[in-house]
Amino acid sequence: MNKEILKNINVLYVEDEKDVREFTSKTISTIVNKIITAENGKEGLDKFKENKDINLILTDINMPKMGGLEMCSEIRKIDAEVPIVITSAHSDPDFLKKAIDVKVSAYAMKPIDLYHLIESMIKAVEPIFLRKELEMINLTLENRVEEAIKQTKSILDAQDNMVILTDLKQTIDANKKFFEYFQVNNLEEFFNKYDSVVSSFKCENGLFSKSCIEDESKNWIETISELSEIDRTVKIENKDGEDRIFTVNIDDYEQKGEHYVISFTDITELKEKSNLLEYQANHDQLTGLFNRQKFNEVFAKEIKRERRYENCLSLIIFDIDNFKKFNDTYGHNMGDEVLKTISKIVLKSIREHDTVARWGGEEFVVLLPQTDITGAKNVAEKIRRAIAEYEDEVIPERITSSFGVSQLQKEENEQNLLKNADIALYEAKAQGKNIVIPFY
Ligand code: GH3
Ligand code: MG
Ligand code: MG
Repeated sequence: MNKEILKNINVLYVEDEKDVREFTSKTISTIVNKIITAENGKEGLDKFKENKDINLILTDINMPKMGGLEMCSEIRKIDAEVPIVITSAHSDPDFLKKAIDVKVSAYAMKPIDLYHLIESMIKAVEPIFLRKELEMINLTLENRVEEAIKQTKSILDAQDNMVILTDLKQTIDANKKFFEYFQVNNLEEFFNKYDSVVSSFKCENGLFSKSCIEDESKNWIETISELSEIDRTVKIENKDGEDRIFTVNIDDYEQKGEHYVISFTDITELKEKSNLLEYQANHDQLTGLFNRQKFNEVFAKEIKRERRYENCLSLIIFDIDNFKKFNDTYGHNMGDEVLKTISKIVLKSIREHDTVARWGGEEFVVLLPQTDITGAKNVAEKIRRAIAEYEDEVIPERITSSFGVSQLQKEENEQNLLKNADIALYEAKAQGKNIVIPFY
């Protein structure tokens, strides 16, 4: 028997027999929090109304002024829950019916056996006590969950990145930044604009979008998760119609593959900068052509490829004639104009798969895949003539160049091809310039 639960109980004890009342209340007072006594039903009802904190009613039946059951039915009008224990010798059907009507919780037969009375009291308060305890636990839990949600939400909202919470089927929530970016107030408004988050990613070469999902049994989160970090890049238009670039970070926060925190880090500036740096590393500043380093990179790749397919590969190297004199006569700036103009002329004269680069100073190289030496000689001749015949208002004098051409032979490498073309170019200069010489 768990007497402990009576410890916090306030009891209203109604009994007309003085001796019984005093003896019983004295005993009970040692195990409950508070006991209030009344001599009859009427006084009992008044005291119940006065004391709002009564948790248990213990009452006799037959009493002057107002009987116990009558009092209880009055109390029931005020409080439908408070447990009632009846001390009585009664057991006739009429009494039982009334007792049921007022929802008596337990009986303790008279003469009062204290052990039995306490047992009845415990039986009466136990359900209420347990329910209250459960309510308390639920409330604490609810508060804790609510608190945790609030905390998570404020952490997410404080993020500089857009963040969404999602399971594999749907987006559960998103943070303030996300809503601001798309200028919506909630997810519902977002999904009125886009049928899914992945639909907001623009389709573009090198970037992840809906069209990158080949395996239709997978959703975008699974697909993008399998990509390397560098490929998890997306482009999304913001509310002002401006495109921004983001890297997508996916966090499986329970490690179960069910719930994900997805954040989008804006790398637009970084990307622009790295594109610029990459451009600067590969291109000649003056002409915008590939520089020597980039050319060598392309060259190595082409050699491998042409070997594999047993295609021929040729190279043109050309050098502006008497350029020192030109610079000395018209100035270095005018020389730069010539270099820029020649670059444009060459670009116009070659095919898409050919590669031109500024080899250095006033020297250029052109790589021609799937071209034999005769073909290359023709291309060189075409460039030579285009340069020699070029005229405009800016450049004060016609310019000519000399060309060396070579074709890659079996067992040869980049160095052989370059050296042979260079030998041919030297020969072209020796033969009086403005001429194409093939190396055989
Ligand atoms: P050749 O006909 O034998 O080729 O004679 P050249 O005068 O053209 O050859 P040389 O190698 O003696 O001189 C090359 C000149 O090209 C010298 C240099 O001032 C000029 N040059 C190299 N790079 C640049 C550049 O970026 N801008 C300008 N304006 N001139 C350059
Ligand atoms: Mg030179
Ligand atoms: Mg020269």
